[in-house]
Formats: sequence, structure tokens, C-alpha cells
Amino acid sequence: MCYGNSTFGGGIKLIEVKNVTKKYGSFVAVNNISFTVNDGEVVGFLGPNGAGKSTTMNMITGFIEPTEGTIVVNGNDIMKKTKKAKKDIGYMPENVPLYNDLTVKEFVSYMAELKLVKKAQRKEEVEKVLKQTGLVEVQNKLTKNLSRGYKQRTSLAGALVGNPEVLILDEPTVGLDPKQIIEIRNLIKELGKEHTVMVSSHILSEISQLCDRVIIINKGEIVAIDKPENLEDKTKEQNIVYVTVEDKEDKMSTIKEKIPEILEIKMIKDNEDGTKQYQVISDQENDIRKILFDVLPKEEITIFELKKAETSLEDAFIKLVDDATEEYNKKQAEKERKEKEEFEKELQEEEEEIKRKKEEKAKKKEERAKKKQEKAKEKQEKKENKKNEKEQSKEEGGKN
Ligand code: ADP
Ligand code: MG
Repeated sequence: MCYGNSTFGGGIKLIEVKNVTKKYGSFVAVNNISFTVNDGEVVGFLGPNGAGKSTTMNMITGFIEPTEGTIVVNGNDIMKKTKKAKKDIGYMPENVPLYNDLTVKEFVSYMAELKLVKKAQRKEEVEKVLKQTGLVEVQNKLTKNLSRGYKQRTSLAGALVGNPEVLILDEPTVGLDPKQIIEIRNLIKELGKEHTVMVSSHILSEISQLCDRVIIINKGEIVAIDKPENLEDKTKEQNIVYVTVEDKEDKMSTIKEKIPEILEIKMIKDNEDGTKQYQVISDQENDIRKILFDVLPKEEITIFELKKAETSLEDAFIKLVDDATEEYNKKQAEKERKEKEEFEKELQEEEEEIKRKKEEKAKKKEERAKKKQEKAKEKQEKKENKKNEKEQSKEEGGKN
């Protein structure tokens, strides 16, 4: 299962997740994610608790519907050709949901029936799977009486029966002790030779050795997709060294000026024996250790200990998730700021509209009053005119 590049360009796409979003009410559990898993690949699906791993796996296996987007498994749209698509998938959900009153063998047989394994082949298929998962010895035990490790195996057997192309395993090592973890890991490694596997975990180191690629998810968004070794490199942007020194004249405070390769230096420990530990950060190209060994003695600084900080894959994972969380929080804060701004703008517009209407009303009222006044004036004038006319005609009549 070793590929020469990180793109897996030549493989047939067995799982295609395209712009998939899942909302629970207004809560976005999975936000517009896209990725593919190619034929024969073992892909790790990693993320802290609540990242959206189970939600995504439940959508790939057709147990819940995406709010938006499409999922195609081995050429079949999981929402449109559910039966056909499901036949190619073996799913081991999280928390090992078993039927307590069935024996191991009965459970696996029942799963075979659900998987539409033909009756004539069922016995043989169940026996094969029990052997494969190391369950032959416990096949007649009730599943409720099994240890956690065997329960996990039984659930895996249920996923495996019917020989599906794709195996979706949701946190198969959760709750197991280190020995059991190694056993399950080896089992998955074996299965990876014959199947395409997507396996989730919240602990990277636990499954990184198994995987051709890892997909890292955090807060419903994909943070990185790459080979495990590349992820490690990605986060190694700085070179960090820890140095413990005896420095009676406090010359370390000026050492940064003397060594231009140092980006940052800070004291992290003031030991009781008079020594101090510093963290020295330089850029990636420079291994600062050689320079420190050369320069510090010349400054009469005695080196007691000098060590390089190694970024482990786990550190890489944590850093990616932390960076993504920071990015997410920033985006969220920006979103809230914009919403507030818009709300305030709307409020202001509303107030202005009210003010404008009020003014308009007052203006109209004024106009009406003015018109009324004019009319009254006109009436008065007419009245007076008439009166005048009358008086005039009276006068003229009197003259005649
Ligand atoms: P993971 O498997 O990575 O731990 P999940 O997919 O189980 O994460 O959950 C992702 C997020 O969606 C979590 O915040 C969880 O609380 C929420 N969630 C999961 N299922 C439901 C549900 N049925 N209703 C509401 N919220 C849910
Ligand atoms: Mg989960």
C-alpha cells in the first residue's frame, strides 16, 4: 500500500465527498467539506472530539443525510442508489453497537444476512470472517460477555462480512489498552491489503503508521490532507533549541545582537543551582546548535545542556488543529462583528426612516393648515366682496 506521490492521481475514486454540509438545526457540524479516497488506500480521518468525524462517516455510509452536497461510493450516489452503495460498504460505527443477546457467531451471521450474503454462502463467509478477526475461540460467547477488545473485533467482523470494497471504521481503537490497540492496528493493516479503508481517530500517532494519507478535520472543516510525513514537515517552520547555561555576567541578554540567526530568545527556567534555561528560535535552514557551541564560550557563558526540540507527528497534528481553531475563532469574531455592524446600520436606517416619515407628516400637516388658512382667507375675501357688491348696488339703487 505504498504510493510514490501524495496525490494518488492514478487511483479510481472509491469515495467522493463533494461540498458536503451537515446542519443540526442552525448548528453547522460539517461545513462544506470535499475529499476523495482512492481504491486501495488506507486513509486516516483525524480530529479532536466533536470535529465532525462520526457525522461525516454516518453520511458516507448513508445513515444520515447531508444538508447539502453529494457523496458517491464506488460510482453510486449514496442518497440515490442507497442499496447498491451500501453493499460496497462495511461500517464499524463508534461505541460498538452490538446485540447483547446474540453470540458472536449469531451476530456476524445476522450482519451477513443484512448484507445480502446468499444463504448458501453465508456459513462459509461467517467462518472466514471469524477466522480473519481472531474470533473463532469466542464465537459461541454472548457479545455482552466479551471484553472491550473482543467486542471491538466483533464489530469489525460485522463490518467485514460480505467482503465489501470499502471499510469505514469509526474510532476502532477507542477504549482499548495499548496491547489491544496494536492488535486492532495490525488487523486493520492486514485488511488494508484487500480493502479501501477509512479509519477515524482523535489520536494521530495511534493510526498514522497505518495510513497512506491523513485527512484532518476540526470544527467541521478540513484543515489538511496529506501524507503523515508531509504533515510533520509542514509544521516544522522553525528550529527550536533549548540551552541551559551558567551566565554570571548576564551576557545572554545581549546574545541576540551577536548571533543574527536567532529570531527569538527567551528565558524559560531560572534554576536553583544558578543556571538558566533559554529557548532559542531560529529559522528552518539554520541549526543554531553549532553556532551556540561556538559563540557562547567566547562570551564566557558555560553551556550545561543543549538540546533540539523535535516536532512529533502528534505536535504537528495539535499545531494544525490549534492554528485552524485560531483561524476559525477569528472568522467567527469577524462574522459577529459584521453582523453587529449590519444590525446597527439597519437600526440607523430604520431610525432615519422614522424621522423622515415624521418630518413628512409634519410638513403635510403644515401644508394642510396653510391651505385651510388660505381657504378661510379666500372665503372671507369672497364674503367681503359680496358684501361690498351688495352695498354698492344698494347705493346705486338709492341713487336711481
Ligand atoms: P466527532 O465524531 O468528530 O467527535 P461528531 O460528528 O460526533 O464529532 O459531532 C460533531 C458535532 O456535531 C459536535 O459538536 C456534536 O455535538 C454535534 N452533533 C452530533 N450529532 C448531533 C445531533 N444528532 N444533534 C445535534 N448535534 C449533533
Ligand atoms: Mg465520533
